[in-house]
Amino acid sequence: MKKELIKLVETDITTLAVDAIVNAANSSLLGGGGVDGAIHRAAGPELLAECRTLDGCPTGEAKITKGYRLPARFVIHTVGPIWRGGKHEEPQLLAACYRSTFKIVQARHLETIAFPAISTGAYGFPGKEAARIAVRETLMAAEQLPFLQQVIFVCFNPDTREAYEEALQ
Ligand code: ADP
Repeated sequence: MKKELIKLVETDITTLAVDAIVNAANSSLLGGGGVDGAIHRAAGPELLAECRTLDGCPTGEAKITKGYRLPARFVIHTVGPIWRGGKHEEPQLLAACYRSTFKIVQARHLETIAFPAISTGAYGFPGKEAARIAVRETLMAAEQLPFLQQVIFVCFNPDTREAYEEALQ
């Protein structure tokens, strides 16, 4: 595997000039709070206009749009599970978000991608378990993705950084 494939960065994901940033969207794809709101504000109204044509997105799946005013070329919108105690397939659904996203990465031959900590904000998924899933799915996907150069995990707060550092051990 490529050395330094995974990088932890403490920043606002909307500032990153990568091939694609991932949006932790809700199933309407029509915008929301948290990282979703930040991405729509930074991308401009054209992003919402394209999202309106997509007919939403089920939990665990992903859809791609252009990045519009963002420095990133594309936004991959994925819908994480809402944490309901852990016995409602939340881990499987979160893993599905990463797999669906990497399918798009493969189809588009994207080289650089940045993820927020999907589901760990308003959706309440425990950060450490979410980070373990993110790292595991990324390492599994990377084996099949010769084009992939860099996966950035955006750590919007210190707890998130700690969770990824632990998962990478
Ligand atoms: P979800 O509904 O999937 O939980 P949230 O947007 O509420 O999505 O939170 C997901 C993660 O994104 C949280 O770790 C939150 O701190 C982080 N986050 C919020 N705003 C940004 C941003 N501008 N850039 C990167 N990460 C962000």
